[in-house]
Parts: sequence; structure tokens; C-alpha cells
Amino acid sequence: MFHGVIERTDTSDIIVVGCGTSGAVVAGRLVEAGLRVTVVEAGPDYRSYGDGGWPADLLDARALPQTHDWGYVGRGAGGQQLAFERARVIGGCSAHNGCVQIPGWRGDYDAWAASGCPGWSGEELRPMFARSSERLRLRQFAPDEIQPFHRGFLEAAVAAGIPRTDDLGDLDGEIGCGPEPMNVVAGVRWNTAFAYVDPVRDRRELTIVADAVVDRVLVAGGRATGVRAWVDGQPRELRADLVVLCAGAYGTPEILLRSGIGPAADLREHHIEVQADLPAVGANLHDHPASQLEFAATERLGPELELFARTRWLPEEQTLAKIASPAAAGPFDLHVYPWVEPDEAQPTRWKCVVPVGLLTPKSRGRLRLRSADPAVRADVDHAYLAEPADLAALASGIRWALQVVRQPEMAAYLGPPLQFPPDLRDDALEAWIRSTHTHIWHPAGTCRMGSDPAQGAVVDPLGRVHGIPGLHVADASVFPRLPRATPALAVAMIGERIADLILEPRPG
Ligand SMILES: Cc1cc2nc3c(=O)[nH]c(=O)nc-3n(C[C@H](O)[C@H](O)[C@H](O)COP(=O)(O)OP(=O)(O)OC[C@H]3O[C@@H](n4cnc5c(N)ncnc54)[C@H](O)[C@@H]3O)c2cc1C
Repeated sequence: MFHGVIERTDTSDIIVVGCGTSGAVVAGRLVEAGLRVTVVEAGPDYRSYGDGGWPADLLDARALPQTHDWGYVGRGAGGQQLAFERARVIGGCSAHNGCVQIPGWRGDYDAWAASGCPGWSGEELRPMFARSSERLRLRQFAPDEIQPFHRGFLEAAVAAGIPRTDDLGDLDGEIGCGPEPMNVVAGVRWNTAFAYVDPVRDRRELTIVADAVVDRVLVAGGRATGVRAWVDGQPRELRADLVVLCAGAYGTPEILLRSGIGPAADLREHHIEVQADLPAVGANLHDHPASQLEFAATERLGPELELFARTRWLPEEQTLAKIASPAAAGPFDLHVYPWVEPDEAQPTRWKCVVPVGLLTPKSRGRLRLRSADPAVRADVDHAYLAEPADLAALASGIRWALQVVRQPEMAAYLGPPLQFPPDLRDDALEAWIRSTHTHIWHPAGTCRMGSDPAQGAVVDPLGRVHGIPGLHVADASVFPRLPRATPALAVAMIGERIADLILEPRPG
């Protein structure tokens, strides 16, 4: 029996759950169109950028922040414990990510369209990518803005056979290495809340309920009617005509499952009343797995970086190479994205990392509830590298990275190895990758978009949850398959497109 507060029955057209990378886009676009929107976000709202209240680590785009994390953890292929960081703050992961904005390869979106998602081909999505790129103020580093370590990487990558490009954002691009397009404005991580929410913050159509964890979607007569959230330790019910879930690839399936929308047998195990038996909620979980070489820096690197920082902005990560494994189905299937980071444990106080990420993983895992309690995080089983092809592709990427680190332009900065395969024979290399791999923080696919729930779809190509009118999903969970991209721009694009689809007049 519910004893909390019921409110806002007549003031909101739409509730957006999660004001993260895509939620900020959806909310901003719908308010701009004149709809009354209530945003419910589990993390804090630091107001607009101009108000000056944002924590320094979330603004500073030189390095990844270590705060505002949801605390998901799980296992890698070798049983190693891995953290699955997700931001709990307005702006979501766009407020603490690496700011690299590479939209991927057109063919991956064409494959979405061909797999039961009409309207989602690369050509059709170009305008939405262009809009989000403009809002996020994407820019490309000029040659004299590239810091010494990254200049060395680009020269070494070219020497190892990868052509130089100045347009890693080209949807038709092939293999190549170059500076990363980034959403950084004067050193500030330009998150989607700045880009989309700040311009409408003062509009009376927008209400932001922050520090509010959504427990579940309210369903009456088979239709979504609002959400139940915990605010200041108290349950609150909020009502609207439409609910849009934008809680991310882990948060959105958690909410659906707690709402009784998911595999019926699993729901009954947790004594949750079934509203819709959708077996694919939580399935199709995938990420870009990564394997990395690490080195202490040589004496040369620190002074060169310090000299550069006197006149230029000094990011840790700045360049990337798209390369192809022998089995790549498409122009490339691996990203190599080196960085440097301060490390007091090293005599030179710097560490260099050369990671390889697999963009077309075949392995699929699953997210399952551990409890119906919204304070308990789900069991996240990525099943990383379960498919042998994933391991083979990463191994070929590591072999290319080994060529790059031997080039004099890179070797000049790389001192004693800190993480390095001890034996390069195939079996030994693969065993080393299994036990040391990480990921690129790109979980997706847990509420997959498609036309047919019997074929694993959770939402239809308009973003509507199959079988529950009044409920949409718009975030990384709807990706049928990760594009060979850094996904944040594709997530913002999804926000743009689903906002358009919600606004489009439709019969019925
Ligand atoms: C450390 C890190 C570095 C990354 N670097 C890059 C990069 O450089 N380039 C790139 O393209 N991608 C990068 N990514 C990935 C990218 O940021 C994500 O794929 C993308 O931002 C996901 O967007 P989303 O909208 O699906 O989810 P999110 O941005 O995670 O938004 C979900 C929002 O929902 C809220 N929420 C969740 N559950 C609830 C609930 N129950 N009630 C209320 N609110 C809730 C969360 O607090 C959050 O604000 C990185 C990710 C991480 C973690």
C-alpha cells in the first residue's frame, strides 16, 4: 500500500527519467517545443554552467573524474574484478567522460535499419548527428595543439602503416589516425546539460527533480501513467501522459524490471507483478572490451609535457587510430587511443597507456535484478570475450600496438613496461588478454530497438516500449548493436531523434 505523496497530476505532459547524456537532449528539445517536462534525476543538479556551482573535477576535461559514480562492479573474462563506472549527476556520463566524439561508421547504422529499425540508416541520421555536434560544440585540435606524446603516437602509427587523417568524425571514414574530435570548450567538459538544459532552465515548462531515484514506472490499465521515485527518503508519485526512460544501459533495464516489464519468470522470482513479459529486457548487454599496454614514462616525457603546458591546454588523451583486424567485417574494427597520466609511483611521475578497444564484439551478456529494492544495483554480467573471435581480434590489435611502441617516435617516451604480455605466442597472448583486459565504458543494448519482441526487441523503431503505451526509452540501452564509435555522440543523436519522433504528429 502506497503512503507517499501523489502530485503533479496536471502540470506535466512528459516525465524524463535520468537527465544524463540523452535525457538532457530529450528534455531540452521537448521544452524548446513548448511541452511541459518534469525531469527526475538520481544525482545532484549543479544548475547552469554560468552559475559557477559545478565541481572542478566534472568541468576539467584534461582527465577522467573519480567522483559521482553509481558503483556498478562485475567480472572480466579472467575473473578479475572490474568497475563499471556510470555518472550519477545531471549530464550523466557526458559530465565525466573522455569527451571523445567519434560517430562511427555509416554501415553500422545501415545495419540497424536493415535489422528492423526503419528510419535509422546512416544517411537518415546525419542531420541528428550534425545537430548534436553543433550543440556540443565539437572541435578538432589544430596541429600545434597536439601535445608531444600524442605527436609521437601519430608519427609512430603512420610508420606502422596507418594513414593520417584529420577527420575521424567522417561516417564514411576508413582506417586512419588523427586528433580526436572533442566537446571541450576552453578546457571545460561541455556536457549535454550545458548544451541542452541550460538554454531552457528558466522556462516554466521545465521542472527538475534532482537527487531522486526512480523506483519504477506506474502502469494502470496496461498504460504508463507516471513514476514512483525516492526523494529525501520519501516515496513520491509523479504523473504524466508520457514517460521517457533515459537512465542508461544499466539504469533503464533496472527500472523496467522493477516495473514488471521483462522476463516473466525472473520477475516472479523477485515477487514483482508482471505488466509485460518482455524476455529481452537486460539481454544483449555488450560493451567495447579493451586490452592495454602500460609503461613508466622515460625522463624525457615529463619536462616536454610541462613545457607544452606553459602555452597550451594539456589533455591526457588526444589522438586515436582506427585499425582493422584480419577478420574485420567493415573498414576497421579496433580503436587504439593512448593516453598519459600522472603516477606518483613512477620515478618520472608519469605513466603511458596504449589501449586497444574492440568495436565489434560478438559476446553478449545480461543484466539481472538482484533485488526489487532500487538501492541495490543489478548483477551486470558482460560475458566479455566469451566469443573466441573477440579475443582473436583484440590479440591482433595488441600485436599492432607492439609495433607502434617500438617506433622511435613512441619509444622515446616509453620506459620500463608496467603491463606487457610476457609471451607473444598466440595462446599465451590470449591468456594474458583474458586476465588483464578492461573495457571502454560503453555498455549498450539492454533494451534493444527492433520491430518484433519475439526477435529480442524491447522498444519499437519509434522508441516505444512494446506492449506498454505511454512509455518510451531513449538512451544507449536501445542500440541494437554498438556502432564502431565512441558512443556518446550516438547517444545524443538518439535523444535528438526520439524527441523528434515524440513531437511528430501521428494518427491515433
Ligand atoms: C569514464 C567514462 C569515460 C567515457 N568516455 C567516453 C568518451 O570519451 N567518448 C564517448 O563517446 N563515450 C565515452 N563514454 C561512454 C558514454 O559517456 C556513454 O556511453 C553515454 O554517455 C551513455 O549515455 P546515456 O544517456 O545512455 O546514459 P548516462 O549518461 O549514464 O545517463 C543516465 C542518467 O540516468 C540517471 N539515472 C540512472 N538510474 C536512475 C534512476 N533509477 N532514477 C533517476 N535517475 C537515474 C543517471 O544518474 C544518469 O544521469 C565514457 C563513459 C565513462 C563512464
